[in-house]
Amino acid sequence: MKLEPVIGLEIHVQLKTKSKMFCGCSNRGEYEPPNTTVCPICLGQPGALPAVNKQAVEFGLLVGHALACRPASISRFDRKNYFYPDLPKGYQISQKDLPVAENGTLSFEVPEEGGRRSVTIRINRAHLEEDAAKLLHSPDGMSSFVDFNRGGTPLIEIVTEPDLRTPAEAKAFLQELRLIMRYLGVSDADMEKGHLRCDANISMREVDEDGTLGPLNPKTEVKNINSFRAVEHALEYEIKRQTKLWIDGKPIKEQSTRGWDDAKKISVAQRTKEEAHDYRYFPEPDLPPLDLTLLGQEVRGRVPELPANRRRRFAEEYGFTEAEARVFCDDQELADYAERVMSELQEWAASLETKIDWEANRRDFARLVAGWLLTKLTGLMTEKKIALAELKITPENFAELLAMLHGKKVTGTNALVILGEMIDTGADPSIIADEKSLLLSDDTEELASIAGNIVVANPAAVEDYRKGKTNSVQFLVGQMMKATRGKADPQTARELIETELKKLG
Ligand code: ADP
Ligand code: ZN
Ligand code: MG
Repeated sequence: MKLEPVIGLEIHVQLKTKSKMFCGCSNRGEYEPPNTTVCPICLGQPGALPAVNKQAVEFGLLVGHALACRPASISRFDRKNYFYPDLPKGYQISQKDLPVAENGTLSFEVPEEGGRRSVTIRINRAHLEEDAAKLLHSPDGMSSFVDFNRGGTPLIEIVTEPDLRTPAEAKAFLQELRLIMRYLGVSDADMEKGHLRCDANISMREVDEDGTLGPLNPKTEVKNINSFRAVEHALEYEIKRQTKLWIDGKPIKEQSTRGWDDAKKISVAQRTKEEAHDYRYFPEPDLPPLDLTLLGQEVRGRVPELPANRRRRFAEEYGFTEAEARVFCDDQELADYAERVMSELQEWAASLETKIDWEANRRDFARLVAGWLLTKLTGLMTEKKIALAELKITPENFAELLAMLHGKKVTGTNALVILGEMIDTGADPSIIADEKSLLLSDDTEELASIAGNIVVANPAAVEDYRKGKTNSVQFLVGQMMKATRGKADPQTARELIETELKKLG
């Protein structure tokens, strides 16, 4: 008999709406001085009445569609009652029985040795709620401060079914979810900044030799996980801890909550079921239920192309490999850039006197774009600390440089020189090439006479060649490349040198 992990995640995503969830205060309070984006509603003053933020509801519906949820017709808010200094009302407005979205699925790929495995898990629900304020504690532990800017800002909580089986799956799921939030434009979903927060639930269950699954056991909820790596570490730690308890004959019999200590890489007991809150949920009397039938249909039409579809299209339409498509599509801006470069190149190919058959040569272009964009340009940008948004090179000019390479008008070495200049000035590659005379020469007569001179000027190498030392040809080609300053492509240079050598007999 074996044990297998059963994992379910609860993810809070901070929505980047203009205003807060139930009042008109700015939702950019994290960039403002403490306690400046506040009002009687989000401070929970008696008699203040909330009103639902339509943009937050639309964002919720977008998330629902992206996670293939059943569209909600009626949705309602509920009060979740508990006391804490960051919650001035004594309750949080959340959603219990009628969330904006329910019953979805998400497919994603998990990296494995030798490839990727596709996994589909069920989404239990996605509901809207307001965030609590932020508590800050002085290092000496003597005083605490409350910043209410965050109080009342909109969150969507996404709850998965316990369908995940490994820490790697949990991490891959979260990464795909983050990307979807970004594609939808509903959140920056930055885990380090707390825009995406994850609580991980995990239990172990028995699996027979014949694959029969034992019953689900009480879960342990791990809180305070602040990075993708921490998700993996926390789950791996819990698997070890819970397995050991099982082996020691003390399997977990009771639901509990633990906190992840990322510095020590351990989880720490917080509370058991008996100590759990009774939230005494009841329908929020100050907000009427929402009929989302029409809005839901309208929002469906606004769902953009999602990462999985875009990756597939990058492979099918442009001939990128799966790995290339993945790197591009992990960054929307980069993917947009690559698409514009590809369509420029396609236009260029069709505009030539002797047209290039796009379908037949697509993969060559894709390889060129992936190589030059993902390694050469990205390399230079990292070195010069330039973000894509600040890049002076337009996709048109970048495509032109690649067209020069493809048309063998410039060597790879000189193309890199041109690219270096482009990144600084944003200039047109053909102008730079002209000014610095970096184009390959098509004057074969001139090149042939240079080759002749090289051979005459290097009698020792010629002597070596006669003795059968073939690497002396390479030396002469190198001299030729130097003399022409990259205006001869290496292939032509070699041919011309060999011709000259043969002339000498
Ligand atoms: P609760 O009622 O305590 O909130 P839920 O059933 O709503 O529990 O589940 C909360 C989260 O815990 C979900 O992400 C779910 O997938 C996960 N979960 C539920 N049961 C288990 C279990 N036995 N083992 C691991 N995770 C679980
Ligand atoms: Zn307010
Ligand atoms: Mg629950």
